[in-house]
Parts: sequence; C-alpha cells; structure tokens
Amino acid sequence: AFNANVAAAQDALNAFIVATPEKAVEAAKATDAKRAKGEALGGMGGVPIGMKDLFATVGVQTTAASHILEGFRPEYESTVSQKLWDAGAGMLGKLNLDQFAMGSSNETSYFGNVISPWRRNDGGNASLAPGGSSGGSSAAVSARLCPAATGTDTGGSIRQPAAFTGITGIKPTYGRCSRWGIVAFASSLDQAGPMARDTRDCAIMLEAMAGFDPKDSTSLDMPVPEWEANLSADMKGKKVGIPREYRMDGMDEDVLKSWDDGIAWLKDAGAEIVDISLPHTRYALPAYYIIAPAEASSNLARYDGVRYGLRDLPEGANLQDMYAATRAAGFGAEVKRRILIGTYVLSAGFYDAYYTQAQKVRTLISLDFKNAFESCDVILAPTAPSAAFALGENVDDPLKMYLNDVFAVPASLAGLPAMSVPAGLNREGLPLGLQVIGRAFDEQGVLNAGLAIE
Ligand code: GLN
Repeated sequence: AFNANVAAAQDALNAFIVATPEKAVEAAKATDAKRAKGEALGGMGGVPIGMKDLFATVGVQTTAASHILEGFRPEYESTVSQKLWDAGAGMLGKLNLDQFAMGSSNETSYFGNVISPWRRNDGGNASLAPGGSSGGSSAAVSARLCPAATGTDTGGSIRQPAAFTGITGIKPTYGRCSRWGIVAFASSLDQAGPMARDTRDCAIMLEAMAGFDPKDSTSLDMPVPEWEANLSADMKGKKVGIPREYRMDGMDEDVLKSWDDGIAWLKDAGAEIVDISLPHTRYALPAYYIIAPAEASSNLARYDGVRYGLRDLPEGANLQDMYAATRAAGFGAEVKRRILIGTYVLSAGFYDAYYTQAQKVRTLISLDFKNAFESCDVILAPTAPSAAFALGENVDDPLKMYLNDVFAVPASLAGLPAMSVPAGLNREGLPLGLQVIGRAFDEQGVLNAGLAIE
C-alpha cells in the first residue's frame, strides 16, 4: 500500500528521487518469516521508511540531490541506514532534499523542488515549501507516503521541515547517530535523526538509529537509552525555560500565539515556567553561516570528477580543466555560493576576522545554554519564525532564506538535542511547530516535553 502511494503521489509532490519498492517488500517478507518462526522482530520490524538521499545505500543511487553525484552507487551502507535495516525497517526509496542539505525550502535540489502536501485555506492553490533541507522527508511523512523517514540536521534541517508540514522530528545530541556514510556538509554540526508522525514513533526510530560507531571519530561512546519505554508526559517538577531573546521585534503573531499555547500546555502538564536569557542568540545565525560554509568548502573538495558521479571532460582538457568543468556543471548555485563563502572565510587574510571569530561566538552560544540549564530542564521556543512560505517566495534572496533558521541554529552550534512538535495551525490553516531544546544527552527530557505538547 505504501509503495502504491509513493508512486501515485510522485508527480504531485516530487518527494522521492528514486523509489525502491522491492526493498520495502523484502523487509516486510523478512519480518513475516521471523514472525512465523516466533523470532524477535526488531524495533522497526517490517516498517517501510523513506531514506533521505544523503545516506549512502549500497547499490542504490545516492546523490545528495546534486548533479555532481548523479549515477553514484555506493559500495557501502551508512551506519544509520544499516542500523535501521538491522532493526527490520525496509526502504521505500531515496528522498529528495536541498542540494548537499544546503537550503530551507528544498528549492536547491537538482531534481526539482518538493511540493508540500499542505495548502492555505484561502481557496488558492499556491504551492508551498515543505521546508528544508529534509523536505522530501517532511512531505512524504506528512502526506502519509511513509510512516517515518530519516532526516539530517546541520542548522535546522529536521526541525524546520517538520514544523512546516505538521510532523515531529528530533535532532539528537551531536554524536548520538554516526555520521559515517552520510554525505558530509558541515561535519561539526551534521546530525541524523528521525522524522515521524509523533513523539513515540520518533523515540522508537531514534533508538534504532543511535549508537556508538568506531568509524566516526565524533561518535558518542554511550549506551542508547530506552527512550520509548521511558516516555512520560508528566512535567511535574520540571522547569521549562522561555528564552527572552527569541521574542523578536515584528514576530509573526500566530507564531507568538502558538508559543503561548505551548507554555500553557506544559503548565497544565505540571511544569514550572521560568524566564531565561540566551544573550548571544543574535550572533548565532551569522556564526553559523560562516562555520557551515567553511566546513562545506573543505568537505566538498572531494567532488572533483575523479572519484564520484559526474565527470565533465572537454575535448583536449587537462586535469585542471576537468576539475573546473565538472564542478561548474555539477554544483548548483547555492552550493557554489557556500563554497565561495567558505573558501573566503578560511583564506589567510580573513581567517581570524571571520572563522576564528565565529568559533569564539560558538563557544559563547554553548555557554549561554550551559548557564540557562542551571535554572531550567528544557527550553521552549518556536521552531521557525513563520509557517511554510510559498515556493519561489524567498528564492532570490539568500539572506531572507537564511533568516528562516534563526531559532534552529543555536542548538546546532551547541550540539544539543532539539525537537520540533506540531503545535496547531495558523490562521491560514498551516501547521506551526514548537521547538524543545534540552541538555546534552537528555533526549529523554526533550521527548517527554514534546509528548506533553502533542
Ligand atoms: N537551512 C540551513 C542551511 O541552509 C540548514 C540546513 C541543514 O540543517 N542541513 O544551511
């Protein structure tokens, strides 16, 4: 049934880059066989999922939604996807995304943008952005093409698309999920996580995805907690911090209202609400847009036409010409912009002024959170400053697009677990998300607050 829905919705949503119906069926059959023999099914036994096309999958094209990787069929499986298959899940296909996970609307994909299944209630039929970069994942889960999907979050790419489409997504503590076999964007920020219909499904899937991996030098060597078994919506004795600095001038009224609703729901669940300050919040976005491109410019140097996917070899070209032609043809405009920014901020004359400065800001942001968590257990804030915008609306203005990440990037810079949960609809009938940020390693606290809100 899921395979049929994936095929039927492809023209309308463009959520998948490739479908792999046989893989989903294979997992379902393997689960049936285990059930018949009375064997344990695994936490994801038989569940068909969508895989963001940033995870390397053996023999199945892995593109990061870029032309430069078109036709690349890895000989290895990412740790996270392997863990999901080991837990019994099956793959419905590879999901569309922003190219190299750079974007907030899915409009940077080489394979065309994803279209959100949602529409405004104004009688119009404007196509809306599903968020990004995990926009194929958010659209597919929201349209019920799959019960759950993988996402990755570097500066909000699980949380913002979840908010835009009325689903739930969690970015765990940096290091919880192995980065091995995930196409690298900004290695000190990249983190995989689940996107699903509700908190419980996210907890189940995160348990399958997380765990120490010696192949990733930043992997956390800690046992995976039983998040699902310990879910509780009882917030008695818990303090919820409301960061003053996230209340910005000219904020969307509906977003403010949903934030107030969230505060009221957590109070009803027994929480105490406290006012907190994260004084360096306004520097988080500029610091992110230096650090992430800097790391990207280094990570993307490997796409040179020699080792992966596309090779553009003009008549009579030498090696340098081949590099240049391949990259010119293979990378999209946003990816080139980031490589240029990243190369610039790392260059000898500007390194101290930009990169070192941004790293210092990053430390200050982490310290802000550390101080705040002395007086609260979790932090509640909006996920994004607005509901989903129309496709095309921000596409010519990168700064406006980057502003969409303003509430998401602080937790990324600090490596903290953060989740987006649906928090009702705005006046246009579009979903809004609330974000719960927790202490490092306290996914449980985050999930529990999420459960109390949903
Ligand atoms: N929208 C942000 C960016 O474009 C975040 C992307 C992400 O988390 N992968 O960088």
